[in-house]
Amino acid sequence: MIAEVIVDISNSEVDRIFDYAFDEEQAICAGSRVLVPFGNRKIEGYVVNIKETTDCPPDKLKTIAEPLDRKPVILKELLVLMHMMTESYHLRCVDVLKLFIPAQMRGGKVKELVRQYATLHPDYRQRDMNDLIKKTASAQWEIYRLLSDGQAHSVADLNRDYSAAALKNLVMRGIVSIESVEVNRTPYKQLANEAAHCVTLTEEQQAAVSKIEQAQDKTIVLHGVTGSGKTEVYMRCIAEVLQRGQTAIMLVPEISLTPQVLKNFRARFGDAVALLHSGLSAGERYDEWRRLLNGEATVAVGARSAIFAPVSNLGLIIIDEEHDSSYLSESNPRYPTHEVAAFRAHYNQCNLILGSATPSIETYYHAQKGDYDLIELKNRVNRHAMPEIEIVDMCKELSEGSPGIFSRSLDNALAACIERGEQAIIFINRRGYSSYVMCRKCGYVAKCEQCDVSLVYHKDENILKCHYCNNRYSMLDVCPQCKSPQIKQGFMGTQKVVEYLESRFPQVRVLRMDNDTTQGKDAHYKILSAFAAKEAQILVGTQMIAKGHDFPDVTLVGIVDADMSLHFADYRSAERTYQLITQVSGRAGRDRKAGKVVLQTYTPHHYVYRFALANDYSGFYKKEINLREITKYPPFAKIVRVLVTGENEQLAMAVLKSIYQEIETYSSTKREAFAYLGVMRAPLKRMQNKYRMQILMRLVAEHRTCIQAVYQAVDHYNTPKISCFVEINPNDLR
Ligand code: ADP
Ligand code: ZN
Ligand code: ZN
Repeated sequence: MIAEVIVDISNSEVDRIFDYAFDEEQAICAGSRVLVPFGNRKIEGYVVNIKETTDCPPDKLKTIAEPLDRKPVILKELLVLMHMMTESYHLRCVDVLKLFIPAQMRGGKVKELVRQYATLHPDYRQRDMNDLIKKTASAQWEIYRLLSDGQAHSVADLNRDYSAAALKNLVMRGIVSIESVEVNRTPYKQLANEAAHCVTLTEEQQAAVSKIEQAQDKTIVLHGVTGSGKTEVYMRCIAEVLQRGQTAIMLVPEISLTPQVLKNFRARFGDAVALLHSGLSAGERYDEWRRLLNGEATVAVGARSAIFAPVSNLGLIIIDEEHDSSYLSESNPRYPTHEVAAFRAHYNQCNLILGSATPSIETYYHAQKGDYDLIELKNRVNRHAMPEIEIVDMCKELSEGSPGIFSRSLDNALAACIERGEQAIIFINRRGYSSYVMCRKCGYVAKCEQCDVSLVYHKDENILKCHYCNNRYSMLDVCPQCKSPQIKQGFMGTQKVVEYLESRFPQVRVLRMDNDTTQGKDAHYKILSAFAAKEAQILVGTQMIAKGHDFPDVTLVGIVDADMSLHFADYRSAERTYQLITQVSGRAGRDRKAGKVVLQTYTPHHYVYRFALANDYSGFYKKEINLREITKYPPFAKIVRVLVTGENEQLAMAVLKSIYQEIETYSSTKREAFAYLGVMRAPLKRMQNKYRMQILMRLVAEHRTCIQAVYQAVDHYNTPKISCFVEINPNDLR
């Protein structure tokens, strides 16, 4: 027999199928890993197909050295998906295959966790032990007495509590037998034993569940306002799928993979739930993955990459907070999660739910056109009102003699909230935010030597950090350019707000949640559960706090500077701002108490705020979709960027020009497809010592053909010195 094998080397030259022979008694099948001779060494490979014959001449045909898996570790479905992904996204087979199995499994780095258990051998249960164990061997007696209960006891415990030598002696004489058992490492064990609290669905929720259950092989947009109980709808639908003997995948943004979500799922579905996300240890991740593969677990809950969960017989896929930018992977291998999900759903003839309070403009456009079904939840559960949003004009604030970072309104509201013993969330958007360090005299701004971006001051360490490459610089005493000591720190970040709040409300405990405070494995969990347990009254944070959290006692949300994401040079800045405001506002007043939002802005009349204030998603959508149609932006076009980077500026420039010429020539044969084609330096001109330049285009027709042509044009310019990267509708056009 012949196996088609992809070898585990990330190199385009060898990223193709190699044929290897194997004996039939070697249980090798498609989807299993093997060790194969390659050149003069042995490497791991993935079997993607089995066939009878090969064109490879017999003297060249090599034989598989060794199978690595007893059963396939990659489902047939995923092998089909691999072909779709390599073709559509121009990826290497091996890079796609690596998405399908836990990283640590490659090279045999993680193994099943095996524990040894000791039991009394049945032959010795009724015998008189005085013949066998000396009176003085007290440790042996103790072990014997313990094991007389007929139970299995952990060898590690026995060794620790009694004596390893005594146990060994009993084992050698056959009195005690030892058995190895595979055990699963369960992440967040502490959440396992919560009882499920069952709620009665609201009419809206019930209608949504029925509609979803009646649909088949459909993409369904579940547009539900914040606090409308979307999670409950998901769980009901999953329960129904499990009852039919099928499986489900639910994706949530990494950041909102909160203990709350996990707790709810564990409580409802118990061990049927497996969690997949980057916060798990390698061993935990591997065990959860394996439980899915062997069918012990039937619901995969996780961040983006959980879309590759090894579950067969899928009955439902859910993408929660579907508008979230984390669903598009930024680094190689780059793939759009929605498309992969649609592929798997369609393959299994099951439904795909895209849930959000603020669907992306693109998703909602498809729902409007009728490509997707649309289900709306217009009310919060128990009909609680949406929070009231107050817009504060910060220019006016300044002119009226209130120059602080907190307006009088926000300050008053915060004081009142604290007085009432309730909780508040203060949100600062740091995306696209330059908390720079500047000389007041000559205007010098401290920048990273390798990245051409402003450095950010970190007060706790008293250093300047580059947020793109993590380089660290010492804080300036004097300006390097004019020697003036008047160094000014730019805008405030989370640290500065916390500092301010601590001096303003000395008796109140404040928690901070941002990239710096959430580095550890359970850091998110700790901060959120401390806040949930009311150990602090104020939570200050970046967009991480905006997503999905449900704190019943939060009655005030303060948005310190709403404009920050608005003035970002990106066609989606209005959309993102609308989403952020709605999401973060949605944290207020979720339970019985009414919620209030204070939004501080320098452009109070912007349409984004007008629609957000009225909670008018559909109004916002209409305005935005019109703009997109006129300007030819997605969903009316696909943006394609070729990013060329390299340390040698001239070389990169030369490569850029050559690629541009090829694309230009091609585009002249397809005028109607190209709404725009341009070449320029990237907005972020240098990063990690590499120059960055780009070709940008917007395609309004024949996307597939044109994108393939772009790939073709770019391919042969990729060298170790110059990297050329093609991105489709990238999240970030820096
Ligand atoms: P969303 O994701 O739509 O913002 P959630 O799913 O977080 O909203 O639900 C908000 C809160 O309402 C949660 O605490 C949830 O347990 C509760 N909830 C959901 N459905 C019901 C219901 N039918 N009756 C009572 N409470 C509900
Ligand atoms: Zn200066
Ligand atoms: Zn840098």
